[in-house]
Amino acid sequence: MTVLQGHGVSQGAAHGPLYFFRRSASPQEAAHGGCDPEEEGKRLACARDAAAQELLELAGTAEAAAGKSGAALFEAHAMLLEDEDAVATADALIAQGHSAEYAVAQAAKTVSALLSNTGSPELLARAADVQDVADRLQRLLSGAREALLSFPHPVILCAEDLSPSETIRLDKRRILAIATRGGSASSHTAILARTLGIPAVCGLGGALDESLHGREAVLSGDTGQLILDPDQAAMRILEESLARRASHQAKYRSMIGLDDRTLDGRPLPICCNIASPEDVSAVLHNDGRGIGLFRSEFLYLASQDYPQEDVQFHAYRQVAAAMDGKRVVIRTLDIGADKQIDYFHLHPEENPALGMRAVRLCLAQPQMFNTQLRALYRASAYGNLAILLPMITSVWELQACRQACRRAMEELAEQGIPFNPDTQLGVTIETPAAVMMAPELAREADFFSVGTNDLTQYTLACDRQCAGLEPYFNPRHPAVLRQLKLAADAAHQAGIPIGICGELAADPDLLPTFLALGIDELSVAPSSVLPLRAALREINTADCDLRLLAE
Ligand code: PEP
Ligand code: MG
Repeated sequence: MTVLQGHGVSQGAAHGPLYFFRRSASPQEAAHGGCDPEEEGKRLACARDAAAQELLELAGTAEAAAGKSGAALFEAHAMLLEDEDAVATADALIAQGHSAEYAVAQAAKTVSALLSNTGSPELLARAADVQDVADRLQRLLSGAREALLSFPHPVILCAEDLSPSETIRLDKRRILAIATRGGSASSHTAILARTLGIPAVCGLGGALDESLHGREAVLSGDTGQLILDPDQAAMRILEESLARRASHQAKYRSMIGLDDRTLDGRPLPICCNIASPEDVSAVLHNDGRGIGLFRSEFLYLASQDYPQEDVQFHAYRQVAAAMDGKRVVIRTLDIGADKQIDYFHLHPEENPALGMRAVRLCLAQPQMFNTQLRALYRASAYGNLAILLPMITSVWELQACRQACRRAMEELAEQGIPFNPDTQLGVTIETPAAVMMAPELAREADFFSVGTNDLTQYTLACDRQCAGLEPYFNPRHPAVLRQLKLAADAAHQAGIPIGICGELAADPDLLPTFLALGIDELSVAPSSVLPLRAALREINTADCDLRLLAE
Protein backbone atom coordinates (compact mmCIF):
# COMPACT_ATOMS: atom_id res chain seq x y z
CA MET A 1 0.00 0.00 0.00
CA THR A 2 1.34 3.44 -0.92
CA VAL A 3 -0.16 6.80 0.08
CA LEU A 4 0.19 9.83 -2.19
CA GLN A 5 -0.60 13.17 -0.56
CA GLY A 6 -2.18 16.07 -2.44
CA HIS A 7 -4.82 18.73 -1.75
CA GLY A 8 -8.45 17.73 -1.43
CA VAL A 9 -10.48 20.13 -3.61
CA SER A 10 -13.83 18.36 -3.70
CA GLN A 11 -15.08 16.35 -0.74
CA GLY A 12 -16.10 12.69 -0.69
CA ALA A 13 -14.32 9.39 -1.21
CA ALA A 14 -14.22 6.69 -3.87
CA HIS A 15 -12.63 3.32 -4.62
CA GLY A 16 -11.77 2.02 -8.08
CA PRO A 17 -9.11 1.55 -10.77
CA LEU A 18 -6.87 4.44 -11.86
CA TYR A 19 -7.34 5.52 -15.47
CA PHE A 20 -4.87 7.89 -17.07
CA PHE A 21 -6.40 10.43 -19.39
CA ARG A 22 -4.57 10.77 -22.68
CA ARG A 23 -4.99 14.26 -24.05
CA SER A 24 -4.07 13.48 -27.64
CA ALA A 25 -5.01 10.43 -29.62
CA SER A 26 -3.13 11.53 -32.72
CA PRO A 27 -2.27 8.65 -35.05
CA GLN A 28 1.42 8.95 -34.13
CA GLU A 29 0.80 8.74 -30.40
CA ALA A 30 -1.69 5.93 -30.59
CA ALA A 31 0.74 3.93 -32.73
CA HIS A 32 2.05 2.49 -29.47
CA GLY A 33 -1.26 0.69 -28.98
CA GLY A 34 -2.98 0.16 -25.64
CA CYS A 35 -6.48 1.08 -26.87
CA ASP A 36 -9.64 -0.89 -26.21
CA PRO A 37 -10.42 -2.72 -29.52
CA GLU A 38 -14.15 -2.84 -28.85
CA GLU A 39 -14.35 0.89 -28.10
CA GLU A 40 -12.17 1.85 -31.10
CA GLY A 41 -14.14 -0.50 -33.39
CA LYS A 42 -17.37 1.19 -32.34
CA ARG A 43 -15.89 4.64 -32.91
CA LEU A 44 -14.76 3.72 -36.41
CA ALA A 45 -18.14 2.18 -37.25
CA CYS A 46 -19.90 5.37 -36.09
CA ALA A 47 -17.52 7.56 -38.08
CA ARG A 48 -18.06 5.39 -41.19
CA ASP A 49 -21.84 5.67 -40.86
CA ALA A 50 -21.62 9.44 -40.37
CA ALA A 51 -19.27 9.77 -43.38
CA ALA A 52 -21.65 7.70 -45.55
CA GLN A 53 -24.52 9.96 -44.49
CA GLU A 54 -22.54 13.12 -45.26
CA LEU A 55 -21.50 11.79 -48.68
CA LEU A 56 -25.08 10.80 -49.50
CA GLU A 57 -26.25 14.33 -48.71
CA LEU A 58 -23.40 15.86 -50.73
CA ALA A 59 -24.23 13.59 -53.69
CA GLY A 60 -27.87 14.71 -53.50
CA THR A 61 -26.94 18.39 -53.45
CA ALA A 62 -24.42 17.96 -56.27
CA GLU A 63 -26.92 16.05 -58.42
CA ALA A 64 -29.53 18.80 -57.97
CA ALA A 65 -26.96 21.41 -59.02
CA ALA A 66 -25.01 19.61 -61.77
CA GLY A 67 -26.87 16.42 -62.65
CA LYS A 68 -25.71 12.80 -62.33
CA SER A 69 -22.07 13.54 -63.20
CA GLY A 70 -21.84 15.99 -60.29
CA ALA A 71 -22.83 13.29 -57.85
CA ALA A 72 -20.35 10.70 -59.20
CA LEU A 73 -17.37 11.84 -57.15
CA PHE A 74 -19.23 11.62 -53.84
CA GLU A 75 -20.71 8.25 -54.75
CA ALA A 76 -17.19 7.00 -55.50
CA HIS A 77 -16.03 8.27 -52.12
CA ALA A 78 -18.92 6.48 -50.42
CA MET A 79 -17.81 3.25 -52.13
CA LEU A 80 -14.27 3.74 -50.85
CA LEU A 81 -15.64 3.63 -47.32
CA GLU A 82 -16.46 -0.01 -48.05
CA ASP A 83 -13.16 -0.83 -49.81
CA GLU A 84 -12.32 -4.38 -48.71
CA ASP A 85 -8.52 -3.91 -48.46
CA ALA A 86 -8.90 -0.69 -46.47
CA VAL A 87 -11.53 -2.12 -44.11
CA ALA A 88 -9.50 -5.31 -43.50
CA THR A 89 -6.30 -3.32 -42.78
CA ALA A 90 -8.08 -0.97 -40.38
CA ASP A 91 -9.88 -3.79 -38.55
CA ALA A 92 -6.64 -5.72 -38.09
CA LEU A 93 -4.88 -2.70 -36.58
CA ILE A 94 -7.75 -2.00 -34.21
CA ALA A 95 -7.73 -5.66 -33.10
CA GLN A 96 -4.03 -5.16 -32.21
CA GLY A 97 -4.97 -2.31 -29.84
CA HIS A 98 -4.34 0.70 -32.09
CA SER A 99 -6.66 3.71 -32.14
CA ALA A 100 -9.28 4.20 -34.87
CA GLU A 101 -7.37 7.31 -36.03
CA TYR A 102 -4.15 5.34 -36.45
CA ALA A 103 -5.97 2.49 -38.21
CA VAL A 104 -7.56 4.89 -40.72
CA ALA A 105 -4.25 6.65 -41.39
CA GLN A 106 -2.41 3.35 -41.98
CA ALA A 107 -5.19 1.82 -44.07
CA ALA A 108 -5.27 4.91 -46.31
CA LYS A 109 -1.47 4.74 -46.68
CA THR A 110 -1.56 1.05 -47.65
CA VAL A 111 -4.37 1.41 -50.21
CA SER A 112 -2.90 4.62 -51.69
CA ALA A 113 0.50 2.91 -52.10
CA LEU A 114 -1.16 -0.03 -53.92
CA LEU A 115 -2.94 2.36 -56.30
CA SER A 116 0.09 4.61 -56.90
CA ASN A 117 2.39 1.66 -57.66
CA THR A 118 0.26 0.60 -60.64
CA GLY A 119 1.57 3.65 -62.59
CA SER A 120 -1.90 4.23 -64.03
CA PRO A 121 -2.84 7.98 -63.98
CA GLU A 122 -6.45 7.02 -63.38
CA LEU A 123 -5.61 4.94 -60.31
CA LEU A 124 -3.22 7.64 -59.12
CA ALA A 125 -6.21 10.01 -59.00
CA ARG A 126 -8.05 7.36 -56.97
CA ALA A 127 -5.24 7.54 -54.39
CA ALA A 128 -6.10 11.23 -53.83
CA ASP A 129 -9.73 10.21 -53.31
CA VAL A 130 -8.65 7.65 -50.71
CA GLN A 131 -6.83 10.39 -48.80
CA ASP A 132 -9.94 12.59 -49.03
CA VAL A 133 -12.10 9.90 -47.50
CA ALA A 134 -9.49 9.25 -44.79
CA ASP A 135 -9.46 12.98 -43.93
CA ARG A 136 -13.26 12.96 -43.63
CA LEU A 137 -13.10 9.99 -41.26
CA GLN A 138 -10.35 11.61 -39.18
CA ARG A 139 -12.45 14.76 -38.79
CA LEU A 140 -15.48 12.75 -37.71
CA LEU A 141 -13.38 10.63 -35.35
CA SER A 142 -11.85 13.65 -33.66
CA GLY A 143 -15.29 15.25 -33.42
CA ALA A 144 -16.70 12.12 -31.79
CA ARG A 145 -13.79 11.96 -29.37
CA GLU A 146 -14.17 15.63 -28.56
CA ALA A 147 -17.89 15.34 -28.03
CA LEU A 148 -17.64 13.05 -25.00
CA LEU A 149 -14.59 11.77 -23.16
CA SER A 150 -15.73 8.29 -22.32
CA PHE A 151 -14.26 5.38 -20.35
CA PRO A 152 -14.74 1.61 -20.57
CA HIS A 153 -15.86 1.30 -16.91
CA PRO A 154 -16.12 3.48 -13.75
CA VAL A 155 -12.68 4.94 -13.01
CA ILE A 156 -10.65 7.28 -10.83
CA LEU A 157 -9.58 9.65 -13.59
CA CYS A 158 -5.92 10.70 -13.44
CA ALA A 159 -4.28 13.48 -15.44
CA GLU A 160 -1.57 16.11 -15.34
CA ASP A 161 -4.45 18.59 -15.19
CA LEU A 162 -7.78 18.90 -16.96
CA SER A 163 -8.89 21.96 -18.86
CA PRO A 164 -12.46 23.24 -18.34
CA SER A 165 -13.39 22.13 -21.88
CA GLU A 166 -12.17 18.60 -21.12
CA THR A 167 -13.91 18.46 -17.75
CA ILE A 168 -17.25 19.49 -19.19
CA ARG A 169 -17.02 16.69 -21.80
CA LEU A 170 -16.21 13.89 -19.34
CA ASP A 171 -18.66 11.03 -19.25
CA LYS A 172 -19.63 11.77 -15.62
CA ARG A 173 -21.49 8.48 -15.14
CA ARG A 174 -18.15 6.70 -15.23
CA ILE A 175 -16.03 9.06 -13.14
CA LEU A 176 -15.72 7.92 -9.53
CA ALA A 177 -13.18 10.62 -8.64
CA ILE A 178 -10.52 12.88 -10.15
CA ALA A 179 -6.80 12.94 -9.28
CA THR A 180 -4.37 15.40 -10.87
CA ARG A 181 -0.64 16.05 -10.63
CA GLY A 182 -1.10 19.84 -10.88
CA GLY A 183 -4.19 22.02 -10.48
CA SER A 184 -5.50 24.24 -7.70
CA ALA A 185 -8.62 24.55 -5.56
CA SER A 186 -9.85 27.64 -7.38
CA SER A 187 -9.34 26.33 -10.94
CA HIS A 188 -12.51 25.82 -12.95
CA THR A 189 -11.88 22.08 -12.98
CA ALA A 190 -12.00 21.94 -9.17
CA ILE A 191 -15.07 24.20 -9.18
CA LEU A 192 -16.80 21.89 -11.66
CA ALA A 193 -15.91 18.80 -9.61
CA ARG A 194 -17.55 20.43 -6.58
CA THR A 195 -20.61 21.42 -8.63
CA LEU A 196 -20.97 17.84 -9.85
CA GLY A 197 -20.22 16.35 -6.42
CA ILE A 198 -17.23 14.33 -7.74
CA PRO A 199 -14.48 13.78 -5.09
CA ALA A 200 -11.19 15.30 -6.28
CA VAL A 201 -7.58 15.67 -5.19
CA CYS A 202 -5.07 17.90 -6.96
CA GLY A 203 -1.35 18.63 -6.58
CA LEU A 204 -0.27 14.96 -6.31
CA GLY A 205 2.88 15.73 -8.30
CA GLY A 206 5.07 13.35 -10.29
CA ALA A 207 4.29 10.39 -8.02
CA LEU A 208 1.03 10.09 -9.93
CA ASP A 209 2.83 8.28 -12.72
CA GLU A 210 1.22 6.71 -15.82
CA SER A 211 2.73 3.36 -14.85
CA LEU A 212 -0.02 3.23 -12.18
CA HIS A 213 -2.69 2.89 -14.90
CA GLY A 214 -5.18 0.21 -13.89
CA ARG A 215 -4.06 -0.07 -10.23
CA GLU A 216 -6.72 -0.14 -7.51
CA ALA A 217 -6.88 2.96 -5.32
CA VAL A 218 -8.93 4.82 -2.74
CA LEU A 219 -9.23 8.59 -3.13
CA SER A 220 -10.32 10.88 -0.33
CA GLY A 221 -11.23 14.46 -1.21
CA ASP A 222 -11.43 15.18 2.54
CA THR A 223 -7.86 14.19 3.45
CA GLY A 224 -6.33 14.85 0.00
CA GLN A 225 -4.97 11.28 -0.13
CA LEU A 226 -4.73 8.76 -2.92
CA ILE A 227 -4.09 5.31 -1.43
CA LEU A 228 -2.70 2.77 -3.91
CA ASP A 229 -3.45 -0.96 -3.48
CA PRO A 230 -5.49 -0.27 -0.32
CA ASP A 231 -5.26 -2.92 2.37
CA GLN A 232 -8.14 -3.97 4.62
CA ALA A 233 -7.44 -1.19 7.12
CA ALA A 234 -7.60 1.45 4.36
CA MET A 235 -10.85 -0.04 3.08
CA ARG A 236 -12.28 0.13 6.59
CA ILE A 237 -11.31 3.81 6.84
CA LEU A 238 -13.01 4.40 3.48
CA GLU A 239 -16.18 2.67 4.64
CA GLU A 240 -16.19 4.66 7.89
CA SER A 241 -15.71 7.90 6.00
CA LEU A 242 -18.57 7.02 3.62
CA ALA A 243 -20.80 6.16 6.60
CA ARG A 244 -19.88 9.44 8.32
CA ARG A 245 -20.68 11.30 5.16
CA ALA A 246 -24.02 9.53 4.82
CA SER A 247 -24.93 10.47 8.39
CA HIS A 248 -23.94 14.12 7.78
CA GLN A 249 -26.04 14.06 4.62
CA ALA A 250 -29.00 12.73 6.60
CA LYS A 251 -28.58 15.58 9.11
CA TYR A 252 -28.38 18.13 6.30
CA ARG A 253 -31.42 16.65 4.54
CA SER A 254 -33.41 17.75 7.59
CA MET A 255 -32.65 21.34 6.49
CA ILE A 256 -34.76 20.91 3.35
CA GLY A 257 -37.73 23.23 3.33
CA LEU A 258 -36.33 25.44 6.13
CA ASP A 259 -35.62 29.15 5.64
CA ASP A 260 -32.18 30.60 5.05
CA ARG A 261 -32.26 32.72 8.22
CA THR A 262 -30.14 33.38 11.29
CA LEU A 263 -31.36 32.46 14.78
CA ASP A 264 -32.74 35.98 15.15
CA GLY A 265 -34.44 35.92 11.77
CA ARG A 266 -32.09 37.82 9.44
CA PRO A 267 -32.56 36.31 5.92
CA LEU A 268 -29.58 35.39 3.72
CA PRO A 269 -30.82 33.39 0.70
CA ILE A 270 -28.47 30.60 -0.41
CA CYS A 271 -28.55 29.98 -4.16
CA CYS A 272 -26.55 27.72 -6.46
CA ASN A 273 -23.83 27.94 -9.08
CA ILE A 274 -24.32 25.72 -12.13
CA ALA A 275 -22.55 25.10 -15.43
CA SER A 276 -25.23 23.35 -17.49
CA PRO A 277 -28.98 22.67 -17.55
CA GLU A 278 -28.27 19.15 -16.22
CA ASP A 279 -27.05 20.67 -12.94
CA VAL A 280 -30.55 21.98 -12.16
CA SER A 281 -31.58 18.62 -10.69
CA ALA A 282 -28.82 19.00 -8.04
CA VAL A 283 -30.12 22.51 -7.26
CA LEU A 284 -33.64 21.20 -6.71
CA HIS A 285 -32.38 18.16 -4.78
CA ASN A 286 -30.49 20.46 -2.40
CA ASP A 287 -33.31 22.99 -2.12
CA GLY A 288 -31.32 25.91 -3.56
CA ARG A 289 -33.20 29.22 -3.26
CA GLY A 290 -32.46 30.00 -6.90
CA ILE A 291 -29.52 30.04 -9.29
CA GLY A 292 -27.09 32.84 -8.44
CA LEU A 293 -24.65 31.99 -11.22
CA PHE A 294 -25.10 29.97 -14.41
CA ARG A 295 -21.66 29.94 -16.08
CA SER A 296 -23.02 30.00 -19.63
CA GLU A 297 -19.60 29.52 -21.26
CA PHE A 298 -19.82 25.81 -20.56
CA LEU A 299 -22.44 25.58 -23.31
CA TYR A 300 -19.76 26.93 -25.64
CA LEU A 301 -17.04 24.68 -24.20
CA ALA A 302 -19.17 21.58 -24.74
CA SER A 303 -19.83 22.49 -28.35
CA GLN A 304 -17.82 21.98 -31.55
CA ASP A 305 -18.84 25.37 -32.94
CA TYR A 306 -20.57 28.58 -31.80
CA PRO A 307 -23.86 27.40 -30.26
CA GLN A 308 -26.71 28.86 -32.28
CA GLU A 309 -29.35 31.17 -30.85
CA ASP A 310 -31.97 28.41 -30.72
CA VAL A 311 -29.64 25.97 -28.95
CA GLN A 312 -28.85 28.60 -26.30
CA PHE A 313 -32.46 29.70 -26.00
CA HIS A 314 -33.58 26.11 -25.29
CA ALA A 315 -30.86 25.66 -22.64
CA TYR A 316 -31.69 28.95 -20.85
CA ARG A 317 -35.44 28.39 -21.10
CA GLN A 318 -35.07 24.86 -19.72
CA VAL A 319 -33.26 26.21 -16.64
CA ALA A 320 -35.63 29.17 -16.16
CA ALA A 321 -38.71 26.95 -16.50
CA ALA A 322 -37.33 24.19 -14.23
CA MET A 323 -36.69 26.73 -11.48
CA ASP A 324 -40.38 27.57 -11.61
CA GLY A 325 -40.34 31.30 -10.78
CA LYS A 326 -37.18 31.22 -8.62
CA ARG A 327 -34.52 33.66 -9.75
CA VAL A 328 -31.98 32.42 -12.32
CA VAL A 329 -28.91 34.61 -12.91
CA ILE A 330 -27.20 33.74 -16.18
CA ARG A 331 -23.73 35.13 -16.73
CA THR A 332 -22.85 36.12 -20.28
CA LEU A 333 -19.95 34.37 -21.97
CA ASP A 334 -16.75 34.34 -19.88
CA ILE A 335 -14.27 32.81 -22.33
CA GLY A 336 -10.53 33.41 -22.37
CA ALA A 337 -7.94 32.97 -19.59
CA ASP A 338 -8.07 29.26 -18.64
CA LYS A 339 -11.23 28.67 -20.70
CA GLN A 340 -9.98 28.40 -24.27
CA ILE A 341 -12.08 27.22 -27.21
CA ASP A 342 -10.50 26.18 -30.53
CA TYR A 343 -13.22 27.56 -32.77
CA PHE A 344 -12.79 31.07 -31.32
CA HIS A 345 -9.28 31.11 -32.84
CA LEU A 346 -8.07 33.48 -30.12
CA HIS A 347 -4.54 34.81 -30.53
CA PRO A 348 -2.12 33.24 -28.06
CA GLU A 349 -1.48 35.68 -25.21
CA GLU A 350 1.45 36.04 -22.82
CA ASN A 351 -0.94 36.58 -19.87
CA PRO A 352 -4.38 35.26 -20.86
CA ALA A 353 -5.90 36.07 -17.44
CA LEU A 354 -5.13 39.72 -18.25
CA GLY A 355 -6.10 39.39 -21.87
CA MET A 356 -9.04 39.35 -24.25
CA ARG A 357 -11.56 37.56 -22.06
CA ALA A 358 -15.19 37.69 -20.97
CA VAL A 359 -17.00 40.95 -21.71
CA ARG A 360 -14.01 42.31 -23.65
CA LEU A 361 -14.39 39.49 -26.14
CA CYS A 362 -18.16 39.99 -26.36
CA LEU A 363 -17.78 43.70 -27.11
CA ALA A 364 -15.14 42.88 -29.74
CA GLN A 365 -17.47 40.34 -31.41
CA PRO A 366 -20.86 42.11 -31.37
CA GLN A 367 -22.55 39.53 -33.60
CA MET A 368 -21.68 36.68 -31.26
CA PHE A 369 -22.75 38.76 -28.22
CA ASN A 370 -26.01 39.63 -29.94
CA THR A 371 -26.77 35.93 -30.50
CA GLN A 372 -26.37 35.20 -26.80
CA LEU A 373 -28.34 38.26 -25.67
CA ARG A 374 -31.22 37.44 -28.02
CA ALA A 375 -31.30 33.88 -26.63
CA LEU A 376 -31.24 35.20 -23.05
CA TYR A 377 -34.03 37.73 -23.58
CA ARG A 378 -36.15 35.13 -25.41
CA ALA A 379 -35.74 32.83 -22.39
CA SER A 380 -36.68 35.70 -20.05
CA ALA A 381 -40.31 35.21 -21.12
CA TYR A 382 -40.31 31.75 -19.47
CA GLY A 383 -39.14 32.42 -15.92
CA ASN A 384 -37.48 34.81 -13.49
CA LEU A 385 -34.24 35.49 -15.33
CA ALA A 386 -31.46 38.04 -14.75
CA ILE A 387 -28.31 38.70 -16.78
CA LEU A 388 -24.85 39.08 -15.21
CA LEU A 389 -21.82 40.64 -16.94
CA PRO A 390 -18.35 39.21 -16.13
CA MET A 391 -15.03 41.09 -15.79
CA ILE A 392 -16.37 44.63 -15.86
CA THR A 393 -13.64 47.17 -15.03
CA SER A 394 -15.12 50.46 -16.34
CA VAL A 395 -18.49 52.17 -16.50
CA TRP A 396 -18.28 52.48 -20.30
CA GLU A 397 -18.23 48.67 -20.61
CA LEU A 398 -21.48 48.42 -18.65
CA GLN A 399 -22.98 51.16 -20.84
CA ALA A 400 -21.87 49.40 -24.04
CA CYS A 401 -23.37 46.14 -22.78
CA ARG A 402 -26.64 47.90 -21.90
CA GLN A 403 -26.69 49.30 -25.42
CA ALA A 404 -26.18 45.77 -26.83
CA CYS A 405 -29.05 44.55 -24.61
CA ARG A 406 -31.31 47.33 -25.89
CA ARG A 407 -30.45 46.39 -29.49
CA ALA A 408 -31.29 42.71 -28.87
CA MET A 409 -34.62 43.69 -27.24
CA GLU A 410 -35.50 46.05 -30.12
CA GLU A 411 -34.87 43.28 -32.65
CA LEU A 412 -37.07 40.84 -30.73
CA ALA A 413 -39.82 43.45 -30.37
CA GLU A 414 -39.73 44.13 -34.14
CA GLN A 415 -40.00 40.40 -34.81
CA GLY A 416 -42.89 40.03 -32.37
CA ILE A 417 -40.90 37.59 -30.19
CA PRO A 418 -41.85 37.75 -26.48
CA PHE A 419 -39.31 38.75 -23.80
CA ASN A 420 -39.28 40.45 -20.40
CA PRO A 421 -38.18 44.08 -20.90
CA ASP A 422 -37.55 44.42 -17.14
CA THR A 423 -34.90 41.68 -17.07
CA GLN A 424 -32.26 42.84 -14.56
CA LEU A 425 -28.69 43.47 -15.65
CA GLY A 426 -26.00 42.92 -13.03
CA VAL A 427 -22.27 43.42 -12.77
CA THR A 428 -19.74 40.90 -11.46
CA ILE A 429 -17.39 42.59 -9.02
CA GLU A 430 -14.25 40.57 -9.65
CA THR A 431 -11.52 43.13 -10.33
CA PRO A 432 -10.12 45.76 -7.97
CA ALA A 433 -11.10 48.30 -10.66
CA ALA A 434 -14.76 47.31 -10.32
CA VAL A 435 -14.50 47.72 -6.54
CA MET A 436 -13.03 51.21 -6.90
CA MET A 437 -15.69 52.14 -9.46
CA ALA A 438 -18.49 50.47 -7.47
CA PRO A 439 -20.32 53.75 -6.59
CA GLU A 440 -20.54 54.69 -10.30
CA LEU A 441 -21.32 51.13 -11.45
CA ALA A 442 -24.04 50.81 -8.79
CA ARG A 443 -25.87 53.78 -10.29
CA GLU A 444 -26.22 51.96 -13.61
CA ALA A 445 -26.45 48.29 -12.59
CA ASP A 446 -29.46 46.47 -11.16
CA PHE A 447 -27.38 44.27 -8.84
CA PHE A 448 -23.82 43.24 -7.94
CA SER A 449 -22.41 39.75 -7.62
CA VAL A 450 -18.91 39.40 -6.19
CA GLY A 451 -16.64 36.88 -7.94
CA THR A 452 -14.16 36.27 -5.15
CA ASN A 453 -12.11 33.78 -7.22
CA ASP A 454 -10.97 36.38 -9.71
CA LEU A 455 -11.08 39.20 -7.17
CA THR A 456 -8.53 37.25 -5.09
CA GLN A 457 -6.41 36.49 -8.16
CA TYR A 458 -6.27 40.11 -9.31
CA THR A 459 -5.96 41.67 -5.84
CA LEU A 460 -3.17 39.42 -4.61
CA ALA A 461 -1.43 39.15 -8.02
CA CYS A 462 -1.74 35.39 -7.67
CA ASP A 463 -2.63 33.03 -10.53
CA ARG A 464 -5.70 31.01 -9.46
CA GLN A 465 -4.62 28.15 -11.73
CA CYS A 466 -1.15 27.77 -10.35
CA ALA A 467 -0.44 24.75 -8.14
CA GLY A 468 1.82 25.51 -5.19
CA LEU A 469 0.57 29.07 -4.60
CA GLU A 470 -1.91 28.01 -1.91
CA PRO A 471 -0.22 30.03 0.86
CA TYR A 472 -0.62 33.14 -1.30
CA PHE A 473 -4.02 32.54 -2.90
CA ASN A 474 -6.04 33.48 0.16
CA PRO A 475 -9.62 34.69 -0.47
CA ARG A 476 -9.86 35.50 3.28
CA HIS A 477 -7.02 38.01 2.97
CA PRO A 478 -8.11 41.35 4.54
CA ALA A 479 -7.28 42.99 1.18
CA VAL A 480 -10.10 40.94 -0.36
CA LEU A 481 -12.53 41.24 2.56
CA ARG A 482 -12.09 45.02 2.75
CA GLN A 483 -13.04 45.23 -0.91
CA LEU A 484 -16.21 43.30 -0.13
CA LYS A 485 -17.05 46.10 2.29
CA LEU A 486 -16.37 48.85 -0.28
CA ALA A 487 -18.57 47.09 -2.85
CA ALA A 488 -21.35 46.29 -0.36
CA ASP A 489 -21.46 49.88 0.94
CA ALA A 490 -21.60 51.25 -2.62
CA ALA A 491 -24.39 48.83 -3.57
CA HIS A 492 -26.48 49.65 -0.53
CA GLN A 493 -25.97 53.38 -0.93
CA ALA A 494 -27.40 53.06 -4.45
CA GLY A 495 -30.19 50.80 -3.22
CA ILE A 496 -29.19 47.67 -5.14
CA PRO A 497 -28.53 44.17 -3.71
CA ILE A 498 -25.13 42.50 -3.60
CA GLY A 499 -24.43 38.75 -3.58
CA ILE A 500 -21.29 36.61 -3.54
CA CYS A 501 -20.89 33.87 -6.15
CA GLY A 502 -17.17 33.02 -5.78
CA GLU A 503 -16.04 29.94 -3.85
CA LEU A 504 -15.57 31.99 -0.67
CA ALA A 505 -19.37 32.14 -0.34
CA ALA A 506 -19.39 28.47 0.77
CA ASP A 507 -17.09 29.07 3.75
CA PRO A 508 -19.29 28.74 6.88
CA ASP A 509 -16.67 30.51 9.03
CA LEU A 510 -17.21 33.65 6.96
CA LEU A 511 -20.98 33.78 7.52
CA PRO A 512 -20.70 36.26 10.45
CA THR A 513 -18.55 38.54 8.27
CA PHE A 514 -21.00 38.35 5.34
CA LEU A 515 -23.89 39.14 7.70
CA ALA A 516 -22.02 42.08 9.24
CA LEU A 517 -21.29 43.39 5.73
CA GLY A 518 -24.98 43.18 4.84
CA ILE A 519 -24.45 40.75 1.94
CA ASP A 520 -27.88 39.98 0.43
CA GLU A 521 -27.32 36.56 -1.17
CA LEU A 522 -24.81 33.72 -1.39
CA SER A 523 -24.42 31.39 -4.36
CA VAL A 524 -22.52 28.12 -3.94
CA ALA A 525 -22.13 24.60 -5.35
CA PRO A 526 -25.43 22.70 -4.85
CA SER A 527 -23.83 20.29 -2.33
CA SER A 528 -22.88 23.26 -0.09
CA VAL A 529 -26.41 24.70 0.28
CA LEU A 530 -27.65 22.55 3.16
CA PRO A 531 -24.44 22.59 5.28
CA LEU A 532 -24.37 26.38 4.89
CA ARG A 533 -28.04 26.67 5.82
CA ALA A 534 -27.42 24.56 8.94
CA ALA A 535 -24.54 26.88 9.95
CA LEU A 536 -26.52 30.06 9.19
CA ARG A 537 -29.42 28.95 11.38
CA GLU A 538 -27.11 28.76 14.41
CA ILE A 539 -25.81 32.32 14.12
CA ASN A 540 -27.07 35.38 15.99
CA THR A 541 -26.49 38.66 14.12
CA ALA A 542 -25.62 40.35 17.44
CA ASP A 543 -22.46 38.18 17.47
CA CYS A 544 -21.41 39.19 13.93
CA ASP A 545 -18.63 41.69 13.37
CA LEU A 546 -15.98 42.77 10.88
CA ARG A 547 -12.94 41.71 12.90
CA LEU A 548 -11.58 39.60 10.01
CA LEU A 549 -11.15 42.78 7.96
CA ALA A 550 -8.68 44.09 10.49
CA GLU A 551 -6.35 41.10 10.74
C1 PEP B 1 -15.27 34.32 -9.67
O1 PEP B 1 -14.35 34.78 -10.34
O2 PEP B 1 -15.29 34.33 -8.43
C2 PEP B 1 -16.45 33.71 -10.33
C3 PEP B 1 -17.54 33.45 -9.69
O3 PEP B 1 -16.35 33.39 -11.63
P1 PEP B 1 -15.37 32.26 -12.23
O4 PEP B 1 -14.90 31.38 -11.10
O5 PEP B 1 -16.18 31.51 -13.22
O6 PEP B 1 -14.28 33.06 -12.86
MG1 MG C 1 -14.57 35.12 -12.45
